[in-house]
Amino acid sequence: MLKVVCGAGNEDCESVKRLVYIYAKAGCKYFDLSAKKEILEAAKEAQALAGVEDLHYCVSVGIKGDPHINKAKINTSKCIKCGNCYRSCPNDAIYSSIIIDEKRCIGCGTCAKKCPTGSITMFEKDVNVKEILPYLVENGVEILELHIMGHDKKDLDYKWEVINECNPKYAAICIDRENFGNKEVLARIRNMIAHRKPYTTIVQADGIPMSGSDDTFKTTLQAVAMAEIIQNANLPVHIMLSGGTNSKTAELAKLCGINYWGIAIGSWARKVVKPYINSKDFWNCLDCQHSAIEAAKALVKASV
Ligand code: SF4
Ligand code: SF4
Repeated sequence: MLKVVCGAGNEDCESVKRLVYIYAKAGCKYFDLSAKKEILEAAKEAQALAGVEDLHYCVSVGIKGDPHINKAKINTSKCIKCGNCYRSCPNDAIYSSIIIDEKRCIGCGTCAKKCPTGSITMFEKDVNVKEILPYLVENGVEILELHIMGHDKKDLDYKWEVINECNPKYAAICIDRENFGNKEVLARIRNMIAHRKPYTTIVQADGIPMSGSDDTFKTTLQAVAMAEIIQNANLPVHIMLSGGTNSKTAELAKLCGINYWGIAIGSWARKVVKPYINSKDFWNCLDCQHSAIEAAKALVKASV
């Protein structure tokens, strides 16, 4: 099963609407959205346009220190207008005039790495989980996901408690190994699922977060390796792969004997439809929509 990740930080309603429309038409049933009322509304609007009834929504929030709640900002006084950031942004969040569209920025940090003058820094943009998450669950969101790649234990405990109080169909934990060893990863998960009913938690085994811009086995290897660690721990959870996932992920996971529940694909899912989805005339261009849906169908099929 494929879950298309529109981006925890992607607050651009129009791009989410187009993405959900295309992938819903292509047969995808699960979508990961930013925790915003207007984003859920945009997704539902797309669902109605696509004429598909049984879609399932997940929203993602992150703890302090997690890159998924970051946004980029540019110090214009240091900028030499080389254009590296504009050319490298995977989500077209930087205009040619070197201005960042904060709503489109997903916090991947690519621009900051490419900047030769250190003009780009990242800042955290948190959401009020107590306010927004109950509303989203009441309005049909089935999965609440917490990204926990940060060291702020107090924030983790608080947000996990709020998620549990909302009583979603599934609570999800997204974690990678960059900041923790395998032992710490499993200890965190065990602690978080201790009071949850078996198999009501999804562990999203994140390989390398927001790194799936290439369609190779190498890109997805870390996600599969991470899933194997979770699987070997025999926890009563569903396993979802993410972070560097692409059309090769299912094949590699099967070869490695991973019994996965689903595959979450963000960067690659957005990239395969990008040439069509960015058309100014998208909603009137049936050829653009058809080409996008065909590209999306191939990814849906490869992710079974
Ligand atoms: S490269 Fe990544 S961090 Fe930079 S503006 Fe684009 S989405 Fe945001
Ligand atoms: S990469 Fe850095 S120096 Fe180059 S245009 Fe972007 S902000 Fe300016």
